[in-house]
Amino acid sequence: MKRAIYPGSFDPVTFGHLDMIGRSAKMVDELVVAVLVNSAKNPLFSIEERVKMLEEMTDHLPNVSIRSFEGLTIDYARSIGANIIVRGLRAVTDFEYELQIAQTNRIVNPDIDTMFLTTSLEYAYLSSTIVKEIASYGGDISKFVPQKLMGRIYEKYEKNRCV
Ligand code: ADP
Repeated sequence: MKRAIYPGSFDPVTFGHLDMIGRSAKMVDELVVAVLVNSAKNPLFSIEERVKMLEEMTDHLPNVSIRSFEGLTIDYARSIGANIIVRGLRAVTDFEYELQIAQTNRIVNPDIDTMFLTTSLEYAYLSSTIVKEIASYGGDISKFVPQKLMGRIYEKYEKNRCV
């Protein structure tokens, strides 16, 4: 039984993430999308909101589930019996950082491997940060995130503007 985790901030989930989820779910028996509770970052969406958005966007994929976790990814992977960590590579800048983390994780726990998928070309530029930047100016984000989530993203900035 191959269980993998796909960890990340998903603040918010984008078409790039959903592409990764769809592709990696086909390679394993079970994929757990793990939303990181990271107190160092100042997220736009709460953990509950991020989990809910991911659940809604993946409910057609029977072997995908969404959870949240705190602490080290490698420890969380072991605690749920996952031996594969899925990560996406967009550019050389991702590579350097990801390689370091993956190698460190192999030393901490050699039973768990990191599987890298290269981004689909059409999403190579796409990140949650870009989506937030554009949405904060009221720009069009329809090519970056599912239509169903767009209102929730704009709403965050409308609230901020009223304060
Ligand atoms: P993190 O804060 O861990 O980088 P993200 O939510 O930004 O969390 O990303 C989670 C994972 O998804 C990372 O492995 C990242 O490289 C990957 N990813 C993000 N956007 C894309 C994309 N457009 N194409 C492929 N992979 C992506």
